[in-house]
Amino acid sequence: MSQAPTGFVWLVGAGPGDPGLITVAAAEALAQADVVVYDRLANPALLDLAPAGAERVAAGKGPDRHTMTQDEINALLVERGRAGERVVRLKGGDPFVFGRGGEEAEALSANGVPFAVIPGISSAVAAPAYAGIPVTHRGVASSVTFVTGHEDPAKESHGVDWQRLAGSADTLVLLMGVGQLAEIVERLTACGRDAETPVAVVEWGTLSRQRTVTGTLCDIVDKVHDEGIGAPAVIVVGEVVRLRDKLRWFDTRPLFGLRTLVTRTREHAGQLSKALAAVGAEAIELPAIAITPRYDEKTLAAAVDSMKAGGYDWLIFTSTNAVDIFFSFLERRQLDTRSVQAQVAVIGSATAEALQSRGIAVDVTPERFTAEGLLAALPDDLTDRRVLVPRAENARPLLIDELRGRGATVDEETLYVAAPPGDGDVQAGAAAEALRRLRAGEIDVATFASASSVTSLVAILGDDLSPLRRCRIACIGPITAAKAEELLGREPEIVAEEHTIPGLVTAIEEAETSRV
Ligand code: SAH
Repeated sequence: MSQAPTGFVWLVGAGPGDPGLITVAAAEALAQADVVVYDRLANPALLDLAPAGAERVAAGKGPDRHTMTQDEINALLVERGRAGERVVRLKGGDPFVFGRGGEEAEALSANGVPFAVIPGISSAVAAPAYAGIPVTHRGVASSVTFVTGHEDPAKESHGVDWQRLAGSADTLVLLMGVGQLAEIVERLTACGRDAETPVAVVEWGTLSRQRTVTGTLCDIVDKVHDEGIGAPAVIVVGEVVRLRDKLRWFDTRPLFGLRTLVTRTREHAGQLSKALAAVGAEAIELPAIAITPRYDEKTLAAAVDSMKAGGYDWLIFTSTNAVDIFFSFLERRQLDTRSVQAQVAVIGSATAEALQSRGIAVDVTPERFTAEGLLAALPDDLTDRRVLVPRAENARPLLIDELRGRGATVDEETLYVAAPPGDGDVQAGAAAEALRRLRAGEIDVATFASASSVTSLVAILGDDLSPLRRCRIACIGPITAAKAEELLGREPEIVAEEHTIPGLVTAIEEAETSRV
C-alpha cells in the first residue's frame, strides 16, 4: 500500500480475536496511523502494530470504559480526518458485518473526508470455523444467513422477519444473540424449525479462551445456561453443527486454554508466542526487558580493529542481542564480516543461527546451551590465547573468570543493557493489559527465557510478588531457574532440558499435559 495522503480514514476489520487473523492491508494501515480509534472486540495486541507515538482512543464498550455513542464516534472520525490526520478505525471482525461501519462511512462521505474500507475476517465465519463447523458443506448446507440476535424477538416491531428466516437458509449464524437465546429458539421453533435441529454456541471464538456448547433447539438454552456462556458468542443453527465431532481441531490442541505469560523483549517475543499458540496456548506478552545498546565507542572500535588485524584467537557471543548490536556497530563503521578474524564460539543455537544468517560460520556450539556447556566445549589450555567477549552489562562473571583461569587474556566489551522497559511502555497497550491479567491471577504459566527477564519482571511487579506465586514458572535453563528460585523463593515448576525456545515449549507441554 502506498503512503496515504494525510486527512484519511481507514475503516478496518481487526478480525475476530486471534491476532494472526488481521489482514496484511490492515497491518499496513495501522503502521501509518496517527490515531487509532478501536473497539473492545478488536484484540489489544493489534494496537502494537501502530507506531509507538500514535494516539489510541478506546471507543468501545467495556466494563471500566466510557462508552462513546455512535454519533460521537462518527464526529470524532470526521474531525480527525479533517484535521489532516491518518485515522484507523479498528473494529472487531468485519466493519460492515453488524459493525456499524456503514454508518461511519456515511458520515465520512457526507463530510467529504476521504476513506477506505479494509474488510476483516468476521466472527460469523471464523468462530464456527475454529469450532470445527463449516457454515456451508456440500450435501449438508448450501446456504447461510447472518442474523442479528440483538433485536428483541418478542417485540412487535423488531427488524428480523423470523417467519421468513426460520426456513430461509440451511445454516443460520446469529450474532449478538446469547442474551436472547431463549426467545430466539422459541421463535425459530414456533416458525417451523425442527426442535431437533443441532445448535452450537461459540464464545470468544478464535481465542485460547474459546468455549463451545452444542445441543439442539430443544436443549441448548439449558446447556448454555449451565455452562455460563455469555457474550461475545455466535450461535450456529443447522445440520453443519454435527460436523464438529469430526472436524474439531482448535480446542483439541495439547495446551488449549492454557494462559502463558511471555516476558521476552518485544522484538524477540514473537517466536515463543507463535510456538505456544501452535500448541493451543494463549501467549500473553509482557516484555519484561528492553535491550538498549550501550558501549564505549572508542574501546569497541579498538577491539574490532585489533580483531581485524588478527589480534584475537576467539570471538565469543553469549546472546543474539550481542550479535545484533555487534554487527550494526560494524555496519556503522562501514566494516563487514571480514573483520571477524578469529574462531567464533557461542552459547546457544539461536545465537549460532544469528551468526550464520550473517555469513559467519560458527566454530563451537556447545551441547548444553549454558556458559558451563561452552566452557566444556572450549580447549582446557588457553595459555596466551586472546579472547574477545562482547556482551551485556552485568553479565555473569563465570565465563570470563574461567577463561582467564585457563590462561587466556580476555577483553570483555559491554555492548548493551537489559533492563525493564520504561514505565510508559508497560502502562500502554498490550503490555498494560498483560500486567493487569497477571495481577488478576489470569496467568497459568509464566515463562522466562533469561535470568534478566526474571529480575526485570520482579522489578516491574515491585513489592507484591504474589501474582507470580499463583502461577507456574517455566524457565529455559538452569541459570534462569536459579535466578527465579533466588527471587521468588521456590524452585520453578518447569525447567527446559534443551535450553532453546522450542525446548522451553516442549517442557511446558510435557509438564502441563501430565498435570491433570
Ligand atoms: N463486525 C463483527 C461483529 C460485531 S457485532 C464481526 O464481523 O465479527 C458483535 C458480535 O459479534 C458479538 O455479540 C458476537 O456475537 C460476535 N463476536 C465478535 N467477536 C466474537 C468472537 N471472538 N467470538 C464469538 N463471537 C464474536
